[in-house]
Amino acid sequence: MIDDKALVVFSGGQDSTTCLFWAKQEFKDVYAVSFRYGQKHEKEVELAREIAKTAGVHFEVMDIPLVGQLGRNSLTDATIEMDQAVPASGLPNTFVPGRNMFFLSIAAVYARERGIRHLVTGVSQTDYSGYPDCRDAFVKSLNVTLNLAMDYQFVIHTPLMWIDKAQTWELADKLGVFDLVRYKTLTCYNGIQGDGCGHCPSCLLRNEGLHKYLASKKNA
Ligand code: ZN
Repeated sequence: MIDDKALVVFSGGQDSTTCLFWAKQEFKDVYAVSFRYGQKHEKEVELAREIAKTAGVHFEVMDIPLVGQLGRNSLTDATIEMDQAVPASGLPNTFVPGRNMFFLSIAAVYARERGIRHLVTGVSQTDYSGYPDCRDAFVKSLNVTLNLAMDYQFVIHTPLMWIDKAQTWELADKLGVFDLVRYKTLTCYNGIQGDGCGHCPSCLLRNEGLHKYLASKKNA
């Protein structure tokens, strides 16, 4: 059955790992795909592989270094010092231009070949760094484009779109993978697994959400 299968765009971070287990709850057969796009911390791909194995899902890594080379950004270029905050105007240099568009487009072709029409991505426009390709309008627009491009009825699912980081922790907890997400995933821009370096923008966002969730749980 075509509606039994879903493909998760999977980085091995907090958000996509939560989405992976969400997909496991929603679909019978779950696939995950990770990308090596020239990111400095390729370790995340190996962690993604381990998490996929634990989750018992099909896993594949694809090499698309061109994506990291085309647009200048501090996640793939070691010579650029990483922005520690969203600048007053423009985007932080941690933005990799086109990344989610490429990821989802490649994932869609891969999915179609396997008779999968459900795609899952962990993007969110609630607690985010202002990246345009994390916004709902972009995802909906790309969904239409992919369907037209391949004459196929893809459905892109974004379980985290309207929830904040604290609620993402809550979702992981509800799915029974709070500890796995906390200790096995890698979200840190400095490549440190689990609670991370504690001071990069990604860690600040993740840890703020974590503390907010833990505090709300204590008071519940
Ligand atoms: Zn960090």
